[in-house]
Amino acid sequence: MTKAGAMGPSRVDAGSQAPEGLGVSQIKADRKTDLIPVRAQGSEEVLNRAGALIRQGELVVFPTETVYGLGADGLNPEAVRAIFRAKGRPSDNPLILHIADFDQLPALVNQDLAPFQKLMEDLWPGPMTLVFRRSSLIPDQVTAGGDTVGIRMPSHPIGRAFLRAAQRPVAAPSANLSGRPSPTNARDVYQDMAGRLPLILDGGPCDIGIESTVVDLTVEPAQVLRPGFYTPEILAPYLPRVALDPGLGPGQVLPKSPGQKYKHYAPRAEMTLFVDKSDSMEKAVRDIVTRYLEAESPDRVGLLLFEENVRPVREAVKAAGGPEPYIISQGSRSDLSEMGHSLFTNLRRFDMAGMAVILAMGVPPLGYGESIMNRMRKAAAGRVIEE
Ligand code: AMP
Ligand code: MG
Repeated sequence: MTKAGAMGPSRVDAGSQAPEGLGVSQIKADRKTDLIPVRAQGSEEVLNRAGALIRQGELVVFPTETVYGLGADGLNPEAVRAIFRAKGRPSDNPLILHIADFDQLPALVNQDLAPFQKLMEDLWPGPMTLVFRRSSLIPDQVTAGGDTVGIRMPSHPIGRAFLRAAQRPVAAPSANLSGRPSPTNARDVYQDMAGRLPLILDGGPCDIGIESTVVDLTVEPAQVLRPGFYTPEILAPYLPRVALDPGLGPGQVLPKSPGQKYKHYAPRAEMTLFVDKSDSMEKAVRDIVTRYLEAESPDRVGLLLFEENVRPVREAVKAAGGPEPYIISQGSRSDLSEMGHSLFTNLRRFDMAGMAVILAMGVPPLGYGESIMNRMRKAAAGRVIEE
């Protein structure tokens, strides 16, 4: 399922690689960082090293099926603090504890698990974080002082092998600098994290590409605090009356999950999102072309389109005598999984190409489309034009 990474092992002193224009660039980044490709078989040595590093209180980046995680020993407060320092993450934003096996769960949770047995057995390992009442074993640094804890069992074979090698729950947020799009391949991790930790495990590109669905099981009915690959429709057979946190919808500003309040997932470029409810997408194409042609510096305007839009946009721009646009395709509009898979890395590509503006085509917020749009709306900081 996961493809092997394209990069070979490298040992680079990357002190100068912190992105510019971010407060986090002040963070010390002067360590040697190894980036090592890991296979499901035959990589025992590096996995053992990764496990030993975790037990020593060090940070290790590991792949999951959603995004890459920046891991530390989840029961060691000092190690967990190092996560916040490496990312420049606000300390009131809690971390998810990652486990490899069901037998790790009871010690971490202070809640009856019986009602959720079937949910966990069917949907774990997988892209789902469950929020429970925490046990006293868990340091405050993990939960941001709260009385609940988010726990996840990822399905990525290399992520799981790493968690087994660690021999304890691993606290991890996404392995990006705070405020940047989550990394979905080792190259994007390296760009943000080189110099800040000893080891990045390269398991190739993440299959899903957007972060886990977070489901709060401490309230009745259960609530989706962060939408993801598992939609409320998929959860419904296990959790009757489950619904999205009403604070999450378009234009809402008071989501319940701490992480949702931050300006997340943002490219450096100013992004505007166009959502056309009609299948033809004609109106949105017209709007994007008009905005592009009106731009003062069209060479710094990038277009994030669907495959179906690429020709119509190019032809309309050409017909109006405009310059050839910089376009990234996010696949067919009928393929939401490709759109989610490539979203974050596409946002980073616009930044690398030096774009100041992104004009992006979104999808109607239905099912998995809502989960993807949750990230796109944040990247666009609310600049959404629906028609
Ligand atoms: P990240 O992996 O960077 O997306 O960070 C983990 C995210 O999980 C946080 O930003 C929160 O949105 C969510 N999360 C973690 N623990 C909890 C919790 N106890 N309650 C609610 N949300 C949580
Ligand atoms: Mg994150």
